[in-house]
Amino acid sequence: AKKNSFERFNYYRPYMEEETQRRLHMVRRLRADFAARKLEVWYQPQVDLNTGCIIGVESLLRWPQSDGSFISPAEFIPLAEYSGLIVDIGAWVIEEACQQIRRFNERDYNNIRIAVNVSVPQFRMRDFPELIEQQLNNHQVNADRLELEITESIVMEDPDFVADILYRLKQQGIHVAIDDFGVGFSSLSYLQKLPLDRLKIDKTFVHNSSQDSGRIIIETIVDMAHRLGLGIVAEGIEDQQQLEYFKRLKCAEAQGYYFARPMPAEQLMKLLERENGD
Ligand code: C2E
Ligand code: CA
Ligand code: CA
Ligand code: CA
Repeated sequence: AKKNSFERFNYYRPYMEEETQRRLHMVRRLRADFAARKLEVWYQPQVDLNTGCIIGVESLLRWPQSDGSFISPAEFIPLAEYSGLIVDIGAWVIEEACQQIRRFNERDYNNIRIAVNVSVPQFRMRDFPELIEQQLNNHQVNADRLELEITESIVMEDPDFVADILYRLKQQGIHVAIDDFGVGFSSLSYLQKLPLDRLKIDKTFVHNSSQDSGRIIIETIVDMAHRLGLGIVAEGIEDQQQLEYFKRLKCAEAQGYYFARPMPAEQLMKLLERENGD
């Protein structure tokens, strides 16, 4: 048996090494490109389904490559988390968001909120709420213009710890949304205990909204959010049919390619100028 396990180990090793090397190389490149200020924050509008107005944007990281392509955050965020880089990158994203809110204010877009994705290692940092408070103060930005999107995985890690952090954020006026709601198989009891503002229905559910089974899940989530007094955002709306469906459910807000794709800040400002006729 011993010999067998050794052989098995040998059998997998070349593949594992290659994969590990590839990841290490990518982490090194990410660290260098972040230091060289080559990462970008793009923004995707969130729309009020009653008025059609843009009421917020989600900030989404982009890693441009020399050939003009982008490495997807779905691919490099896990590496940034595992290497610890996400702490600095995440702080920089919040910094960018504060500056962008200032730009909104200069144009009198005084109600547009920016949602920022937050990873577990950031959340676990000591004094995370104070760090954000300081950033908001430095830029003289109101806390209620910032929303943090956290996943169920953060909540499930250590509910008491998370509750403490969330209450401290809430005290400042920062909004908190649960991202990818429903995909985490987590307990629902935390919804009662934590000071949350919104749930984001994950796009995988939205894309199943033409099927009965998909609708049952969506309608249960929307109904529960309404009864708990939580706001709700449908993520990944791609067509008119999905839009009409969520309007019928009295879902207040939505985000998706149907309205706009994520875009660089300058492009967002142009879109807002057109919307506001200035
Ligand atoms: P997420 O937080 O669930 O973000 C929504 C993703 O859905 C984004 O992918 C967005 O571009 C995409 N999306 C929006 N509308 C549609 C649609 O109508 N159809 C389809 N098919 N997709 C749509 P993206 O930009 O590739 O980001 C992937 C993930 O990377 C995000 O998922 C988030 O988990 C993570 N991420 C991105 N930026 C950050 C960041 O600054 N910090 C952290 N911690 N994670 C980030
Ligand atoms: Ca998100
Ligand atoms: Ca999602
Ligand atoms: Ca996510």
